Amino acid sequence: MRSRRPFVAGNWKMNTNLKSGTELAAGLAKLLPQDLPGVEVAVCPPYPFLGAIKAAIAGSGVRLGAQNCCNKESGAFTGEVSVDMLQDIGCDYVILGHSERRTLYGETDEIVNSKVISALAKGLKVILCVGELLEERQGNKTDAVLDRQMTGSLANVAGDQFGKLVIAYEPVWAIGTGLTASPEQAESAHVFLRQWIANRYTSQIAESLRILYGGSVKGDNAKCLLGQPNVDGALVGGASLKVDQFWPIVAAGLEIGNA
Ligand code: PEP
Repeated sequence: MRSRRPFVAGNWKMNTNLKSGTELAAGLAKLLPQDLPGVEVAVCPPYPFLGAIKAAIAGSGVRLGAQNCCNKESGAFTGEVSVDMLQDIGCDYVILGHSERRTLYGETDEIVNSKVISALAKGLKVILCVGELLEERQGNKTDAVLDRQMTGSLANVAGDQFGKLVIAYEPVWAIGTGLTASPEQAESAHVFLRQWIANRYTSQIAESLRILYGGSVKGDNAKCLLGQPNVDGALVGGASLKVDQFWPIVAAGLEIGNA
């Protein structure tokens, strides 16, 4: 059995509707009627469907996550959703720092950090996304970008909060493009991130931290990517929208987790 339990999370982004989302969640819940030690599975639907999806996965092994949260507790923040609200509706996880939030909505490392701090303060688990742009990789800046994003996004996060934190390495050039990092490229970035944690926290924290890979993960490349020693699962976008595309990725995680 792998020391770090593989984690496969689906980021539905702004897709599905109430009916299709509920059916998708119910389909997964049927395939995973209980929590399994070999793999953890979560779905992250759009905000309006969180309640219905929570009901559809009730009692199953599928966990619920949101795609964003506010860094304020409550009050006059029109359009925002607080950590308390997400927990109230049954979320275990929140995705923060996704590249689409960073590039399309101007989320800086500082903003991402304030959200990470808000979520962890309430015990909401965080999937923190980091990753370089294509020109940054081509300019050999991947490590420098990851260093900057980790330093900024994790400022003032204490070592004892890492039990509630998962990192997702998502090279921006591989998100939704069909281009996937090679298993070697993914492994090398994951080793860098784990070493980063070991240097700033402890090797024990680094060893127990799960680092997911995200970027065009599909059923046919999941086993190879998740089979890398430092790749502890996947954050899946496009292929998380259909049960028959998402399930093979979960199955790959389970096989690796049970090995
Ligand atoms: C993502 O958005 O987190 C993602 C990895 O998307 P895709 O799997 O579609 O590349």
